[in-house]
Amino acid sequence: MSTFNEREVKAVRKARTCDWCGQPINTGEPAHYSAGFDDEILGFWTSYMHPECEVAFSMFHARQDIEDDGWEYQGMQRGSSATLEELADERRAAREAEADHA
Ligand SMILES: [Zn+2]
Repeated sequence: MSTFNEREVKAVRKARTCDWCGQPINTGEPAHYSAGFDDEILGFWTSYMHPECEVAFSMFHARQDIEDDGWEYQGMQRGSSATLEELADERRAAREAEADHA
């Protein structure tokens, strides 16, 4: 998959959905925009992410040393390189720890 266009958008003109966390990027909010072409699966693609999600995306790939795989489309924590499932586990563990002290 190759990326041929990438830029920071200061304020989106249309509401978008963040590809990383699945939360809305509202009109007027900043976003990281990228577009490219994948001749295997996606064809022409465009992507919008919250700026902090793009940072998480970059960190994720630095950590995983892979290009595109291993993260869940619209299923990651906003601004974090953990999945929503990991977040749910963390919350469950925190609740259980709290219950132990009650
Ligand atoms: Zn996001």
